[in-house]
Amino acid sequence: MQEWVIASGNAGKIREINALLASYQITLRPQSEWQMVAVEETGLTFVENALLKARAASRISGLPALADDSGLVVPALKGAPGLYSARYAGDQATDSDNVEKLLQDMRGLEGPQRKAWFLCLLVVIQHPEDPAPLIAEGRWPGQIALAPRGSEGFGYDPVFLPDGLTGELAGLSAAELRPEQKNALSHRGQALQALQNDLLAARG
Ligand code: IMP
Repeated sequence: MQEWVIASGNAGKIREINALLASYQITLRPQSEWQMVAVEETGLTFVENALLKARAASRISGLPALADDSGLVVPALKGAPGLYSARYAGDQATDSDNVEKLLQDMRGLEGPQRKAWFLCLLVVIQHPEDPAPLIAEGRWPGQIALAPRGSEGFGYDPVFLPDGLTGELAGLSAAELRPEQKNALSHRGQALQALQNDLLAARG
């Protein structure tokens, strides 16, 4: 079994990614096992921030590292909430504060101007100076609703109307999908699938 460090403290994410990597003889150790200083996320893009987090975790642990970064991108808002998705309405903002600010900022925007997508970046480096990281990306396109609906999920799910839902799912928000329905479609699900493909290819 090979050990990697995961640059995340989110127990749900760690469990989900561990389950996927177990079949590759990889087990994840949370970075909280080491005395980590919080990494300044100074990148201008999701991929830069994921790499900053991975490098710091790899440096302190001496292990290969996996990191992720994700958020919501609204082209009509020049990509906001973007890198600041978790604290769009301020450092102490709750999910509903962030959703409210997003709806305010989008007041008066209609039709194609309400387009948005969730983005998830997963990166894996073998060591802190690895010049060739594995980079897996998932994008989930949709529209921002006029008002929140549903109580599943988290973050911006209540105002995210995924594109392409059909049949009984047509018109539902991401917060009205069951967790397994969301995982099958979401940016995170897609990035995990892409990472799995990369690992298979790297194995040869
Ligand atoms: P994280 O870094 O993956 O925890 O995500 C950063 C922020 O992006 C979260 O706090 C949410 O505001 C937003 N976000 C990321 N993924 C999702 C999702 O699947 N649904 C709703 N919001 C999300």
